[in-house]
Amino acid sequence: MITARKRFGQNFLRDERVIDRIVRAIAPTTDERIVEIGPGRGAMTFKLLAEVPQLTAIEIDRDLVALLREQGPQHGDLTIIEADVLTVDFTALRGTGSRLRVVGNLPYNISTPVLFHLLEHQDVIEDMHFMLQREVVDRMVAPPGDKIYGRLSVALQAQCQVQRLFKVAPGSFWPVPKVDSAIVKLTPHHDAERMRLAAPLDRILRAAFGQRRKTLSNALDGVASVEQMSAADIAPAARAETISVEKFLALAALV
Ligand code: SAM
Repeated sequence: MITARKRFGQNFLRDERVIDRIVRAIAPTTDERIVEIGPGRGAMTFKLLAEVPQLTAIEIDRDLVALLREQGPQHGDLTIIEADVLTVDFTALRGTGSRLRVVGNLPYNISTPVLFHLLEHQDVIEDMHFMLQREVVDRMVAPPGDKIYGRLSVALQAQCQVQRLFKVAPGSFWPVPKVDSAIVKLTPHHDAERMRLAAPLDRILRAAFGQRRKTLSNALDGVASVEQMSAADIAPAARAETISVEKFLALAALV
């Protein structure tokens, strides 16, 4: 008997129509390499395995790993990596093959660290489809000027096309979560210059959004000079939430 472990953010999908809709959004084709994060009891895994010859899944819960190892072969060629996804080297996982398509109904308690971890490996990722807490998706797609526009919005939008696909109601899961969910698609640009700027951009974003109420000249003290801000067309008296992704990238190129 499988229970739901809160510490692993376990809310299992039980609505077949929602699962089918997610699989249709992913639209797998036979020659692709799909990696699922947090397969759980296989709700999406087994449906995906009906479409592709092989699938790799990363699961931390050893009881669920045992269940998947038992049931997987009935559905297809399932490779399970028993690990914390945050320790998985996606670049090594890709090896010399084609880029990975990463999917998952993510554990909400670690969704932001997972997104930043995947950004570090964006070069080997074709695209990503994730179920996330709706509020997190709202932050991911937020435009400048919006009060929820922040480090996550800029870091992701700088490197990927970010598309909100559709909402999923709490009743689609067991146990029923207290929050709404949404499916989001991320497609990395694979732009070498933008990838090179990821580290300085993150230093800027941590400082800029770590102290949102300060003007940028104060918040970025020691990270970027007023001259560099002016060269990137950023007013030193402005606040971080008003600055476009392109301007943050321009500043990252100067520091
Ligand atoms: N995909 C299943 C579904 O939709 O029914 C389960 C989704 S559940 C929200 C999240 C899954 O991620 C669980 O199976 C949980 O055990 C797994 N998980 C939690 N933390 C993890 C981690 N750090 N690394 C890998 N898997 C993790």
